[in-house]
Amino acid sequence: MNFELKPLSLVEAASEKCDVLLVLVADGYKPAKDGFSAFVARAIKDGDALTKPGKLLALYKHAMAQATRVVLVGVGDGSAKSVRTGVMAAMASVKSDTLKKLVVAFASAATAPSVRAGVSAVADASYIFTTTKSKPEARALHDVLLAVSNAGEVQATFDRAVAVVAGVELAKEWANRPANYATPALLAKAAQGLATKHSKVSCEILGPKEVAKLGMGAFMAVAQGSEEPLRFIVLQYHGAAKSQAPTVLVGKGITFDSGGISIKPAAEMDEMKYDMSGAASVLGVFKALGELKPTINVVGLIPATENMPDGLAVKPGDVVTSMSGQTIEILNTDAEGRLVLCDALPYAERFKPQAVVDIATLTGACVVALGAVRSGLFSPDEALSKALSAAGDAAQDLCWPMPLDEEYGEGLKTSFADMANVAGRSGGA
Ligand code: MN
Ligand code: ZN
Repeated sequence: MNFELKPLSLVEAASEKCDVLLVLVADGYKPAKDGFSAFVARAIKDGDALTKPGKLLALYKHAMAQATRVVLVGVGDGSAKSVRTGVMAAMASVKSDTLKKLVVAFASAATAPSVRAGVSAVADASYIFTTTKSKPEARALHDVLLAVSNAGEVQATFDRAVAVVAGVELAKEWANRPANYATPALLAKAAQGLATKHSKVSCEILGPKEVAKLGMGAFMAVAQGSEEPLRFIVLQYHGAAKSQAPTVLVGKGITFDSGGISIKPAAEMDEMKYDMSGAASVLGVFKALGELKPTINVVGLIPATENMPDGLAVKPGDVVTSMSGQTIEILNTDAEGRLVLCDALPYAERFKPQAVVDIATLTGACVVALGAVRSGLFSPDEALSKALSAAGDAAQDLCWPMPLDEEYGEGLKTSFADMANVAGRSGGA
């Protein structure tokens, strides 16, 4: 899918030949002097087109437009949230095989948040997973033109939004793949592919031998019940001077989480293929970095393995030693995410990072606390926590700060190791 940004007034956008023209109309719309703008203003005045986010007025072969279909789309106050609501509603109403070229026209001046939200909503609404279909019906939408009167002001935001879409689509692809199409070895191959494609990205893959040498006993314990060999993926993006401390991203890469010996119930166990979404996010970030080439340094660490029950699988009560030298009593083998991530953290230290961010589908308890609306955000660093929250707001991928009081650690005390890998049910996140 190709995105293009053009400096066009509304009437100029209406003269673009396309399958669908979306006209994003915000509150307080002030029409220009041309006929098409006057018509939009009239539809609002008569109450047939509403600027409320998600309200639509669809027209077929309108005399004043070159598009086959025109949809007036309410985007309210023009905020990221309102634009996303409007564009998602409009895209659902026009979804078809005949939509190949789309023009999205901002009736009023565009802002950075509205452009970002517009680009990501078009991509999200038209996304289709095809990898495991024998006769895939791929996304028909091929060209997306953003028509914005003040294009110069939002060009940088637009470029970044398009790179982010490329990253998000790669993350979705790997997250959606079933476990037999996304093994640890295949994830490693995808990471190596990013390094081959993008000159500033490099990739190193560690296997079971190297991981054993490093003493990653917690990570190895999770992997020992699976026939698929583990991989520890190290991605690096070098965009700035070597002296500049990198940000390290750690992505949980459990390519299938059966729960291990503490096996999960059968219902919805298929969804446990998504337990590598943190890893997929890290791959997506590197894709976006490769396309955008910002002047920063980033390291991506992905501990990738299946969590399976087997004769060799780790058992409840087993004690393992992590890379940091601490011992852990594994009381529940389904709490494996923390076991693979805790071994990535001492490894991250060698990069002397300015920040480390774990991205993980970590606990069902967090979903119980926050639902599917926000992700839990745990950080002892208030500045970093605020920055991540703000980034989530900007991307409409919301998170919420969670507490880290010492007292929560009480439940992890055990007589048999330095700590247990689970505490009680309450406060489980
Ligand atoms: Mn688990
Ligand atoms: Zn898990």
